[in-house]
Amino acid sequence: MTCSTAVLLAAGQGSRMGTEIRKQYLELGGEPLLARPLRTFLKSSVITDIVLVIPEGDEKFIRETIIPAALNNTSGAPDMPGAEGKIRAIIPGGKERYDSVWRGLQAIDWPCDYVFIHDGARPFIQEDALARLLEAVKEQGTAVAAMPSKDTVKIADKDGFVTDTPDRSSVWIVQTPQVFDKMLITGAYEEMMQKLPELNARGIRITDDAMAVELMTGRKVKLVPASYSNIKVTTPDDIAAAAALLEYL
Ligand code: C5P
Repeated sequence: MTCSTAVLLAAGQGSRMGTEIRKQYLELGGEPLLARPLRTFLKSSVITDIVLVIPEGDEKFIRETIIPAALNNTSGAPDMPGAEGKIRAIIPGGKERYDSVWRGLQAIDWPCDYVFIHDGARPFIQEDALARLLEAVKEQGTAVAAMPSKDTVKIADKDGFVTDTPDRSSVWIVQTPQVFDKMLITGAYEEMMQKLPELNARGIRITDDAMAVELMTGRKVKLVPASYSNIKVTTPDDIAAAAALLEYL
């Protein structure tokens, strides 16, 4: 049997949302946003284990509010008897996203072939995308959710002047889950965390997990189409877009 652990990241401050409540706890369709991706993983036949990476001090809230909401279907009826056992660890995250991921990876002390690293702020990940990612990671060792860019992308200098226009047909917008062979991503992260001072000095900012594999292993990362609906809720207008998507999905 294939063992796949989801590392569900929810330890961010949500500062770009400008609300007092963290964005991963904002209400979406009558429940906290984070309950939605957690429910998808609890129900999924692809995911066998879950690590929840949360803000320091929030464990009680997660156990009393988020997990019960995720275990219930949207009409409030218990949906998944026994599924709670999939949640193998609830741990505090770190300062940066990559610190939280590294903590999540280190928490995995059970059999695990593949790791699905997912932003808790992406509520609309669906089972069909998880299945495509699993199929791809089994073949390639890497599988990163992404979609071709609908917009033309410009590279600009710090003053906002365009320096380059990449060919749109080769531009993808990268999402999560970012899925990797467990040994590959753990080794890449371990090396990257040691080399952080050097990377920072070179002005390299680590904004996703694929970068660890790209920078540390030179191995090619495979992009796998997920869905344009797999948005990340970051700014207040994203909450309105997410509420509209709820009606559409
Ligand atoms: O900040 P950003 O939108 O890139 O965050 C993506 C995801 O990573 C969010 O779900 C957020 O909660 C999580 N995160 C984290 N630890 C951090 C920063 C972000 O778990 N230090």
